[in-house]
Amino acid sequence: VTLSGDGAPGLRSALVTVGEELLLGRTVDTNAAWVSGRLADLGAPVIRRFTVGDEDTAIAEALRRALDCAEIVVTSGGLGPTSDDRTREAVAGSLGRRLLLDRELLARLEERFRHRGYDELPPANRSQAEVPEGSTALPNPVGTAPGLVLTQEGRMVILLPGVPRELQALFHAVEDRIRDAFGPRLRPVRIRTLHTTGIPESVLAPRVEKAMEGVSDIEVAFLPDLEGVDVRFTARDRDEDTAEAALDAAEERLAPVLGEYRVPGSGDVAREVVEVLTRRGWTLGLGESCTGGLVARRITDVPGASTVLLGGVVAYANPAKVRYLGVPEEVLAERGAVSAEVARAMASGAARAFEADCGVGITGVAGPGGGTPDKPVGTVHVAASVGGRVQTEAWRFSGDREAVRIRSAQAALTLLLRMIQEAE
Ligand code: ATP
Repeated sequence: VTLSGDGAPGLRSALVTVGEELLLGRTVDTNAAWVSGRLADLGAPVIRRFTVGDEDTAIAEALRRALDCAEIVVTSGGLGPTSDDRTREAVAGSLGRRLLLDRELLARLEERFRHRGYDELPPANRSQAEVPEGSTALPNPVGTAPGLVLTQEGRMVILLPGVPRELQALFHAVEDRIRDAFGPRLRPVRIRTLHTTGIPESVLAPRVEKAMEGVSDIEVAFLPDLEGVDVRFTARDRDEDTAEAALDAAEERLAPVLGEYRVPGSGDVAREVVEVLTRRGWTLGLGESCTGGLVARRITDVPGASTVLLGGVVAYANPAKVRYLGVPEEVLAERGAVSAEVARAMASGAARAFEADCGVGITGVAGPGGGTPDKPVGTVHVAASVGGRVQTEAWRFSGDREAVRIRSAQAALTLLLRMIQEAE
């Protein structure tokens, strides 16, 4: 969702990625993502991407359309020595230029092949020294296909090889060319992400939109996943200081709206839990049912978790909850395994079992079976115990088994984080 940002004119780039294998879905177009990221950081963001097969007319048409909308056009692929590598010829044809033999390039190619033990340059590779008239070669330190740079009516066309390692190795030289040609017009795109959890996008978005009313210099986007919704600010077309100031102002504006839903720091609740517990010197024990150890997994994903996590019990069956977490049998009988009371007993039981300062308890119906009218699939109770004080939360999550488990673990960690922060 884009709320504002009318794309004030700045420097624009377009990409043409060439390769039948991209269209057939055999190769993922990682070059497009990689180059887009670099150009955005450089200040010449990509506004259109074209992907075409190894065909002269398709490449030429894509190039024309790319040049219609952008000052900088980067192509990837089709620079190899074989007959299906069409980019050089197609670009020359499209720009009305001849293909000329670049003697210096030829000498470099011959040298490269000699170095690799060949007596002479294979005839097919000779074509790699034939370049559109007026182009400058960018030496390829890790392969045979050089990059090529052309200018056309104030626009720049940059041809790069398709092999990601080669394309990436050439990109510093590309950045230098772009800086030389367009320096003062470069406007790095600045992005700031605020992480939230525990509030759905449909509730969060209108509140954010309201708070951001009248702000036109920042674009706002919502990026939801199972653990929460990221609010992403983008500032374009500005120098760094003004951009940072606009981002600061936007963040300040949203502070009261995001409130308790904001995940500080890295945005990973498990990481924050480990950090805060480490700072306090507190320890943690876990009692998990429907999440099957997912909270343990999230915590142990964080380097340094061993100083805070003492252990966890996956207590799936009722007798296991009784035996290993000390959940009273009568509570299970009266309230049922999926209940706030059982979650509470699991959290304090986990803290007790591991002699930890804090405990987590989770019990719920992850589905697809096991739901009842009373406790449908997605019903989950989470509890956290901090220094003997216990709080519970009841949730009804949507989604499949995996989604319910991920959301449950996230909810439990979020409750725990809030409680340990409050216990300061
Ligand atoms: P070479 O000189 O090595 O032949 P080239 O410019 O001809 O390079 P291609 O033949 O188009 O490049 O592609 C070479 C390999 O690079 C492909 O097999 C593919 O694995 C990878 N590749 C090509 N394009 C992309 C892309 N857009 N994203 C990721 N990988 C790519």
